[in-house]
Amino acid sequence: MGSGQMSVFKLIDGCGYDALGVQYNALGAKYERRYKTCPCKNCLVSENPSRVWWEIILLTAAHVVYDETEASATSCRLFYDKEDSPLVRLETMSIEYVNIDRDFCGLKYATCDATLGNRLYALMEHRFEIGKRIWQKYKGCDHSENLFSLSPTRMDALSSRSVSASG
Ligand SMILES: [Zn+2]
Repeated sequence: MGSGQMSVFKLIDGCGYDALGVQYNALGAKYERRYKTCPCKNCLVSENPSRVWWEIILLTAAHVVYDETEASATSCRLFYDKEDSPLVRLETMSIEYVNIDRDFCGLKYATCDATLGNRLYALMEHRFEIGKRIWQKYKGCDHSENLFSLSPTRMDALSSRSVSASG
């Protein structure tokens, strides 16, 4: 079992924006991609790949998922608030970054499904808004994160691990 934090970025022609609409991370680096069109499996074989897409980064522990083989066998179940919540699952993640020594791993999923992308992006905007309000109220750090839980439950023959996210 593990937990982690979800971030969602919107990309337009390879330029990324976080939920604040900002193009730079805290270290001043641009959320830019070498690829300028959506890297989802449909777009990769399409003559007309989408120029707008979303990337979902799940930060978790490296002892949970630590290489591409593990990542590609990981699926992420979203909006898993209740047993009977509708099944929304991100299949086949890839490793965005991994640090075994410090035990963290960023899993990436890309989609040009605007319904899903906009829904997750709106959740992130909401999280920023709440974080800001908490900060203003308590003048402290925002410890409320969009937590998801990792469980070793076998979801189906393909995924040895499932990641469920709620927000
Ligand atoms: Zn796509």
